[in-house]
Amino acid sequence: MEETDLIVVGSGAAACVLAYRLRQQSGLRITVVEPESDLAPAIDRERPSRWLKLIGSKDDWKLKTEPCDRLASRRIDWPRGRGIGGSTRINAMIWFPPTATDFANWETACGGQRSIDQWRAAASDVESLVQPETPRFLSDASQQFMAATSGFANAEPMIYRRINRNGRRTDFSALLDGAGVVRGTADRVLWHGERAVGVNLVQGDRSRELRSRCGVVLCAGAIGTPSILMRSGIGPAEDLSRHDIIVRVDRPNVGRRLQDHLVMPVIFETKSKNIFRLDPAVRDVAKWMVTGAGSVSSNIAECGGLFDGGRFQVHVTPTNYLTFPKLSDTAMMTIAINLTRPRSSGTVTLSSPHACSLPVIQGGYGRDDRDIEELVEGVEMVRSIARGSGLGEWVERELIPGQRREGEQAIRKAISRYAQTLYHPTGSCQFGNQIDSPVDVDFKVRGFDGLWAVDASVLPSVTTGNPTASVMTMAWVAAESIAGTTVDRS
Ligand SMILES: Cc1cc2nc3c(=O)[nH]c(=O)nc-3n(C[C@H](O)[C@H](O)[C@H](O)COP(=O)(O)OP(=O)(O)OC[C@H]3O[C@@H](n4cnc5c(N)ncnc54)[C@H](O)[C@@H]3O)c2cc1C
Repeated sequence: MEETDLIVVGSGAAACVLAYRLRQQSGLRITVVEPESDLAPAIDRERPSRWLKLIGSKDDWKLKTEPCDRLASRRIDWPRGRGIGGSTRINAMIWFPPTATDFANWETACGGQRSIDQWRAAASDVESLVQPETPRFLSDASQQFMAATSGFANAEPMIYRRINRNGRRTDFSALLDGAGVVRGTADRVLWHGERAVGVNLVQGDRSRELRSRCGVVLCAGAIGTPSILMRSGIGPAEDLSRHDIIVRVDRPNVGRRLQDHLVMPVIFETKSKNIFRLDPAVRDVAKWMVTGAGSVSSNIAECGGLFDGGRFQVHVTPTNYLTFPKLSDTAMMTIAINLTRPRSSGTVTLSSPHACSLPVIQGGYGRDDRDIEELVEGVEMVRSIARGSGLGEWVERELIPGQRREGEQAIRKAISRYAQTLYHPTGSCQFGNQIDSPVDVDFKVRGFDGLWAVDASVLPSVTTGNPTASVMTMAWVAAESIAGTTVDRS
């Protein structure tokens, strides 16, 4: 048996920032737990333009939803990053800072205990740490889109900043300097009464206990964290009993209220002379190696922004969203759209009590029909942008949904057939001052000592845009709170 001061489970977006800030704020010895993993090829991780190759790679947990009723019974792939850096190893690297609405939601969730200004200050500190880059390449699809939408009323077209360093994916492992890393899958929390004192780990076919003096912080993400809580006896009693897990406390909202952004790609053939390729010319690679610029530095989802007063987010790619990296004969552009504030939610539950079995995910997409209704309006909006002045002459034809699919019913059908996850699962263990939120405003798992949860699972609703910056902001604030508690105790 080994002992440390604090165990951090997971090494993703939240964990890296949390460990870094905790080290700044306290002298705690931190041990990070992350499953063993084989690595995807470095070329796919480093070159932004190859990030889609990481989906389904060794750096991906390769999760899937159950068949989705409103999506033609499709099972949707839910990639989640595995290895040091978590989903920052495989994500699209868009830096989207929390918006005024996000700050207001967080202030409300914690009953005003943390003000909008405090959240805003933390977000700004995180941004100074991450130093997102201004893009070093903009495809002609993106240039056309930005030119066509720049004067739009009630819209904020944006060229997205990137989580990059010198045109390469940012590696967050340096934030863990000074922390120990133990490779293994956290199975469940170890208890002394109502106090968390460590975790049980699975390492291959062995299991082992790791003990800590001040407790455990769960940063295993929107799927991992509720799963560990449930295996530890904290969750919906009925679900736990089904797997013969002893119920420590009945928490119906662990694994519930899981939200994601459902994105609908609207795909066009264009008159561009440039076909975006996964395998660029040697001179483009050389340029990127020397300067970090050029098409190799493109993260594909280069621009977009908020439209219709923030009701929709748009993502523009110089590719066919559904078939790339398969090469096409003609130049393509996708304008994908999602509702920023969906009302629908899904669930994550256990498929078995064992740490290495994959969970059961109900995506819940379109459970509230208003989400689909509004997404139809979003598709109509994209069409009017693409047919309007500026883009109209440049776009050759619409492929998806396709010119023949006009009218609400036809677009609904296209959504059920083609809509995808935007990879933003959040909210499955929400924090808040409501007694039914599993995590309190100090990120403590309600009802226990020495146990915290800090990652995308605690967000009280899905973020306006891409969540990494928001997750990291949570981690920054949580680290200060945890450091205060644990330092007081020592
Ligand atoms: C393909 C893809 C593209 C995305 N694109 C963007 C984007 O462009 N911009 C953006 O802002 N966001 C994007 N996201 C979302 C963003 O990456 C996540 O929201 C963010 O990383 C969540 O942070 P987290 O700390 O909650 O979880 P993660 O970063 O996923 O980290 C969780 C960590 O916990 C580990 N873990 C899980 N279970 C266990 C266990 N039992 N024991 C030990 N460790 C465990 C995992 O291996 C992982 O390292 C994308 C995500 C994906 C998958």
